[in-house]
Amino acid sequence: MNEIDALFEHNRRWAEATKQREPGFFTRLAQQQSPRYMWIGCADSRVPANQITGLDPGEVFVHRNVANVVVHSDLNALSTIQFAVEHLKVEHIMVVGHYGCAGVRAAMRGARIGLADNWLRHVQDVRLRHRKRLDHLDPAQQEDILCEMNVIEQVGNVALSTVMQDAWARGQKVSVHGWVYGLADGLLKDLQVTMSRPDEVVPVFAAALKRYPRGPDGAAHTVAGELGDE
Ligand SMILES: [Zn+2]
Repeated sequence: MNEIDALFEHNRRWAEATKQREPGFFTRLAQQQSPRYMWIGCADSRVPANQITGLDPGEVFVHRNVANVVVHSDLNALSTIQFAVEHLKVEHIMVVGHYGCAGVRAAMRGARIGLADNWLRHVQDVRLRHRKRLDHLDPAQQEDILCEMNVIEQVGNVALSTVMQDAWARGQKVSVHGWVYGLADGLLKDLQVTMSRPDEVVPVFAAALKRYPRGPDGAAHTVAGELGDE
């Protein structure tokens, strides 16, 4: 059996076992999905939304890209978020980064890897904006903290999107959360940046940044030295 045949074989066994365990599972899901959660995560193969959270098919609506970035001009992410919020009526959107993210590492080191350089420019912008909270750390810590800060920034981007602003204006109950996943221990960590109303966005964001102290003054000025971080 070649490796592709093996996937089909595995699929047949999984479908059979699922039907045995829960008769009607597929016919029910074929009618409709009604997930309560939306997961915005990294494309990394080691961070599968359903397995990590123990959720079945039908329970989480997923959008993944390199380094879990949400950009206001990305129609793919925005239309996925809009569908989740307006049609599926998800109650929770979680932006989930992970430690050891190759995208974050490449952004951190300014490595050139191809087309993704342009995408990762957004993560480099996060690094620049918060460099006073990053530059004084050792490289391994910088990488971990940048993974967290990238999540916090993307939570802000989701919260400030027209989709979320409109949903909250209508009185819809939907929260945005920021988590980070540890490849080394399989555990999710809540970054405590949950936003459930428009007036929470700025204070929650500011409180989150305070958890990352700035280093001593005197750090070298960069080209973008005047961008500041608040
Ligand atoms: Zn990643």
